[in-house]
Amino acid sequence: SCGICVEKCPFDAIEIINLPVELEDDPVHRYGENAFALYGLPVPDPGTVTGILGPNGIGKTTAVRALAGELVPNLGEYTAEAAETATWDAVLDRYRGTKLQTYIERIRSDDISIAQKPQYVDQIPGQFDGTTGELLESTDERGALDSYIDRLDIRPVIDQPLSTLSGGELQRVALAATLARDRDFYFLDEVSPYLDIAQRVTAARLIRELAEDANRAVLVVEHDLAILDLLADSLHVAYGEPGAFGVITDPKSVRNGINEYLKGFLSNENMRIRPNKIEFQEHAPRKTAKSTPLIEYPAISKSYGTDEFSLEVESGTIYESEVLGVVGPNGIGKSTLAKLFTGALESDPDSQSLSFQLDIAYKPQYIEIDQPMRVDAFLSSITNDFGTSYWKTEISQPLQLEQIMERNLDDLSGGERQRVAIAACLSDDADLYVMDEPSAHLDVEQRVQATSAIRRYAENNDETVLVIDHDIYMIDLLADRLMVFDGQPSEYGHASAPQEMRAGMNDFLSDLDITFRRDERTQRPRINKPGSQLDRRQKQQGEYYYAP
Ligand code: ADP
Ligand code: ADP
Repeated sequence: SCGICVEKCPFDAIEIINLPVELEDDPVHRYGENAFALYGLPVPDPGTVTGILGPNGIGKTTAVRALAGELVPNLGEYTAEAAETATWDAVLDRYRGTKLQTYIERIRSDDISIAQKPQYVDQIPGQFDGTTGELLESTDERGALDSYIDRLDIRPVIDQPLSTLSGGELQRVALAATLARDRDFYFLDEVSPYLDIAQRVTAARLIRELAEDANRAVLVVEHDLAILDLLADSLHVAYGEPGAFGVITDPKSVRNGINEYLKGFLSNENMRIRPNKIEFQEHAPRKTAKSTPLIEYPAISKSYGTDEFSLEVESGTIYESEVLGVVGPNGIGKSTLAKLFTGALESDPDSQSLSFQLDIAYKPQYIEIDQPMRVDAFLSSITNDFGTSYWKTEISQPLQLEQIMERNLDDLSGGERQRVAIAACLSDDADLYVMDEPSAHLDVEQRVQATSAIRRYAENNDETVLVIDHDIYMIDLLADRLMVFDGQPSEYGHASAPQEMRAGMNDFLSDLDITFRRDERTQRPRINKPGSQLDRRQKQQGEYYYAP
């Protein structure tokens, strides 16, 4: 409902919705009286990759602990007595005749082994004190480690202590450590955070090969829909009320699963999971004539030392109140350019120099705000607008901060921390807002909400935002124009002038050799199979993203 009327909309303006209420059937597992309950289990299937799409806190980890044999599901009997007598026999009885029967028989006879990649790779250095090579050496159970080290480009950091690795490097090390194992069942909790697009596509390819060539069952949670689409053979949608109950649906085809999820309505289940649908539309590029330039900068170059990294930037203009998307691989000079704009770095002596220094509010890729301070205290220290109705409507509501205001910064989950960091950045008083990977650890709905918060903020306050992100969906929803970085990571980089979306996407994707098509029903962009008819035709026409 619109929040005013409780039952039926008297104006028929709004479709009446039944948001999920807790089911009456017995759950698979309930942690206690009034505690979280899980309904449904995903089905690991050898030779295939199964995806789970849904918010955090919905029971994915609980389900995987059950499938790993670590937790005997209590089928809703949560008393201490019942917990002691819970057996796999009872679970088997419940699942007899279903696709899970064989799998549960194997758990019962202790015949299932599992490898898991954790969600928060940033925590790995705290758990393992040593070098990359030392972490990886014990994982080589199939003789495949060496090839993973090469294909995931881990060799350059093999002798480095894990504590010195970047998020993207840790993600690739964690992936190699998991895939190199010899297990029946692999669970990967978010693959894409901190990886650039080429690395995401490589990761997806390696995971598919593990399932197909090595006939393993792989289960993945992934919020980058373009990658999920590429990665999975089938999809369970997870819905419910985070923290209260979660339902994992029977498997759907990936396309239907994603489309129904975006629509907010699950057909087979006859269940509305969200009041509104999530829509993707092609942008008409904003008429730049309307805006005033914020900055006009000359061509600049910057190198670190003589043989180290160097960056060439084409001259360009950034307009007031535009959202400028920035795309390109990791290690290509994106943060270097941001530092040139702030004046923290000087351009090369033989290059033109910048005649301005912008006050930049910066949200880094890896967020370190682990102070023992409450969220509300932290945010009110940044802006005097804190708590005003304006700030609530523009920032705290769309970023769902109301529920976490009283929590401490150091016990927030990755997604919660991300939302606080986005709010902190937007609340700052600056000339230019630069956000590095705001999508990391946000689920799909949160990405959409963060996107609209950022866009509205820019439009309503004539502020200019530069968003660096590797989630093509998010960039597509967010950006008015695009700045494309290319080159050879860690060696040299080149930054294009800000350009119109179509030209920018073509520039960027032709470099990656990836084409997208639009899903007919939802308009969401999907990666074409390499070498498919569409892929070849679009490459010929030079239309990598907005198919003609
Ligand atoms: P997800 O992996 O989807 O984020 P989890 O399965 O970790 O979700 O958790 C689902 C819910 O179950 C959360 O609200 C969590 O707090 C709760 N939960 C997890 N483990 C326990 C436990 N041992 N006792 C009580 N509640 C738990
Ligand atoms: P991105 O933001 O695109 O990931 P960066 O601008 O952070 O890229 O870095 C580009 C390259 O420059 C990387 O190879 C990085 O290691 C190198 N680099 C960054 N800062 C310095 C520095 N102060 N001295 C030497 N090399 C640096």
